[in-house]
Amino acid sequence: MSLQHGHGFDLEARLRERERNGLRRDLSPLDAVAGRADVAADPGCAPPEFDEECVVFGANNYLGLAGDERVAAAAAAAAEDVGTGAGASRLVVGDTVAHRSLERRLAAEKGAERALAFSSGYAANVGTIAALDPDVIFSDELNHASIVDGVRFSGADVVVYDHCDVDSLADAMARRADAASDGESWLVVTDSVFSMDGDVAPLSAICDVADEHGAWTMVDEAHATGVYDGGVVGERDLTERVDVQLGTLSKALGAQGGFVAGSEPLVEHLLNAARSFVFSTGLAPPAAAAAERALDLAPERRDDLWANVARVRDGLEAMGYDVWGDTHVLPVVVGDRDAAVALDERLREAGILAPAIRPPTVPEGTSRLRLAPQATHTDAEIDRCLAAIEEAGEEVGVL
Ligand SMILES: *Cc1c(COP(=O)(O)O)cnc(C)c1O
Repeated sequence: MSLQHGHGFDLEARLRERERNGLRRDLSPLDAVAGRADVAADPGCAPPEFDEECVVFGANNYLGLAGDERVAAAAAAAAEDVGTGAGASRLVVGDTVAHRSLERRLAAEKGAERALAFSSGYAANVGTIAALDPDVIFSDELNHASIVDGVRFSGADVVVYDHCDVDSLADAMARRADAASDGESWLVVTDSVFSMDGDVAPLSAICDVADEHGAWTMVDEAHATGVYDGGVVGERDLTERVDVQLGTLSKALGAQGGFVAGSEPLVEHLLNAARSFVFSTGLAPPAAAAAERALDLAPERRDDLWANVARVRDGLEAMGYDVWGDTHVLPVVVGDRDAAVALDERLREAGILAPAIRPPTVPEGTSRLRLAPQATHTDAEIDRCLAAIEEAGEEVGVL
């Protein structure tokens, strides 16, 4: 029908094009999220070899809190007492005690005057960067897509600097700092933990360079919130120096939503000007309550997370794998994209979900498995994962 006047969309052709380029993706449902004791693939929907219980090593539910009974109870209580949905934008009639309570807790966690909850981390980035409306944005080349989209929305001049490279940032700022740039507003934006490389931005040095030019800094702690006490910003004692702290409630906190923490004027400005806040229904109260409870529970899970991360990293390195980064995210770099996909498939057959990451998500020649151990993985699950990766690596010829 849509094609009859010649102005329609040939989506089948676009899908075939994706298929040809090896970029077509699909969904495969699980019975429960990673972190529940029994994570089994739904036999009705998953591939046939996928009939046994599988263990997920690719989720961002790092502390296993998405499967925690106490977090679930907090969400259930908020659903009963406050409502399952906010019912409106926070600015209209969708502001609730659950939001206010979460925001107080987040501000305390981040050492900030105030915090503002968004419906997702994506919405927080897009809305915040556009609402700041900077003249120039200095952005790490590996920043998350939601930062990239926020930069586009803002219409600012963007200067991309080399990944985690302070000299590259300093050079870019020096080049821009001529007489004509007087009075411009500058924002430096970076992830703290990078989700594909498992490394951490040199935040203190970035703050130094930004300070030299009187620029603002914004740090996206999506993969660090909950995992580090106060995020990497808190852990490195930089709360006074980072102007905008952003994060998600959807990863280590096991809930859903995003937030910004910073000064009172920052939050007042955002709640008036961030379009993804103003024109979107308030965060669902059960998600707010779950995240708040998860913030209280996170510290007790951290030791288990780090012990599991060490067990997996040490095991892989002993086999001869090249494991990058120095955080809880473990990129197992094998180089060749077909090898990475072959490993992923063999692991899947063994009931281990550890996704292959390949170009264009990462540069050519650095295809990898992205392993994310969780605080709740048992030693037996980790050993099963390691044994499967060793066997798969030998079969595929990367070991
Ligand atoms: C996942 C992620 C986001 C988006 O958060 P959601 O709550 O999932 O929308 C933003 N920034 C970074 C760095 C992320 O990894």
